Amino acid sequence: MPATAPAPAGPRIGGLTPFTSIDYPGKLSAVVYLQGCPWRCAYCHNQHLQARDAPAGPDWSALGTWLQGRRGLLDAVVFSGGEPTLDGSLPQAMDEVRAMGFAVGLHSAGMYPRRLRAVLSRADWVGLDVKAPLDDDALHQRITGVAGSAASVRQSLLALLDSGVPHELRTTAHPAQLDDAALLRLADGVAARGARHYALQLARPVGPLGPLGPIGPDYPAPSTLARLQGLFESFTLRAG
Ligand code: SF4
Repeated sequence: MPATAPAPAGPRIGGLTPFTSIDYPGKLSAVVYLQGCPWRCAYCHNQHLQARDAPAGPDWSALGTWLQGRRGLLDAVVFSGGEPTLDGSLPQAMDEVRAMGFAVGLHSAGMYPRRLRAVLSRADWVGLDVKAPLDDDALHQRITGVAGSAASVRQSLLALLDSGVPHELRTTAHPAQLDDAALLRLADGVAARGARHYALQLARPVGPLGPLGPIGPDYPAPSTLARLQGLFESFTLRAG
């Protein structure tokens, strides 16, 4: 019987951005993308990270060696994906990064609330996706392709806001999925729960034949942007 290859130590890495100033507000960061995501958002630009068993990128020990050489040059390491909380090695990886002296950032779509809750104390900042109005189960399912996704996001949002960990809530928006009224319902819902920092990211086309077309200049309406600005302590619009 052939020997089974040992599982690699550490998380399954699908890619790395070695230097960025936009993935953790106010910090120079490296972003480590973990492999695997069960959702299927039409605007996903990381489709190569969706399959958990896809060919992986650098192994964790090689990445650790590289990070050691970045001490003093980078402020933070951000775990992104895919969905990083899918990976059972995430808590240990966050601890190892902190022990090297880096701040720890986390991007999540909130699909695993218990796992998210379990790592919040290890994070210095979390960017959490909210893809649709919190009370709209059908629209969540339409966007993520998965039934029950709204309930997971609601629980994750509650856990994040309860924790007091600095946050940014983010919505990737396309008028074919979220019209202005839906954007406002979404924003009202998260502001009412105590969210203070919110970013609206206009969906970029996924290839010339992607399922969502380009976004016209009238989305969102100026009055919608003004409402969003008034709801949060900080509001960021990312277009393009
Ligand atoms: S949750 Fe994120 S990684 Fe997963 S399919 Fe949606 S956009 Fe892509």
